[in-house]
Amino acid sequence: MLRYTPKVCIVTRVRKLLALAQDHNKITTRSLQRWGAVLLKDKGTRAPSVQQTANFDSIKRRGFYIDEVYQHVKHTGVRDLSLVDDGKNIQVTWEDQHISRFHAMWLRHNCQCETCLPQTSTVLVDFSKIDDDIRVTSARMEGEDVINLTWTGQARDTHHEGFILTKFLRHYCYSEAAERKRRTERAMNFDNDRVIPEVEFDDVMKNEEGLYKWLTALSDRGLCLVKSVPTVRGTIRQVAERIAPIQHTIYGDVSTKQ
Ligand SMILES: [Zn+2]
Repeated sequence: MLRYTPKVCIVTRVRKLLALAQDHNKITTRSLQRWGAVLLKDKGTRAPSVQQTANFDSIKRRGFYIDEVYQHVKHTGVRDLSLVDDGKNIQVTWEDQHISRFHAMWLRHNCQCETCLPQTSTVLVDFSKIDDDIRVTSARMEGEDVINLTWTGQARDTHHEGFILTKFLRHYCYSEAAERKRRTERAMNFDNDRVIPEVEFDDVMKNEEGLYKWLTALSDRGLCLVKSVPTVRGTIRQVAERIAPIQHTIYGDVSTKQ
């Protein structure tokens, strides 16, 4: 059975939004981070408490390591790292004894090597094209902060060597315990006044201010009504793609209700 927890990825427009956020001083690094965004800016204000290695340097050079994001991620020391389920998963035992398992497909999708995650910040791995049978054949630490991984599967061109930050893994750990904890941290404040924020379709689609307003409402309140959306087939897709590329799932890409 496929075990994969998709996450909302905001990989587009983050730079612009960050600039807007700084102007407005409203969206914080953390609120964007809650959306699953790895912010693409290295302010270099604090020296990271990490061991420098070649692949860590590569991640940092491309702007995917940000102190503000990762300083909140605790216990990222790895006590034990092993392949389980014949390489279908890797198991990480962290310094606080928490145990995480990450599926080979999930890891492949989140590979942070320069081919998969280039400077442009666009994730080039299409999850729908990852071999179902992909396995991790090797997982080893590089220094204290990077795990080097090798994948192999049945299909052609499946072999890949890449790497992922341990802090990223701990941050996005999808174990039951981590998900439970995350749910309590992400309590939305909708219940306080029961007001659903609203934005106009034209504002969301045509200007960055509208998009910013929409994302802020979604991040802070958990829901937001987009009004005056034309009842034309394909419009929902366009709206969703203002946030990020649509993640292919077994349920289809989008569902439309007339
Ligand atoms: Zn890669």
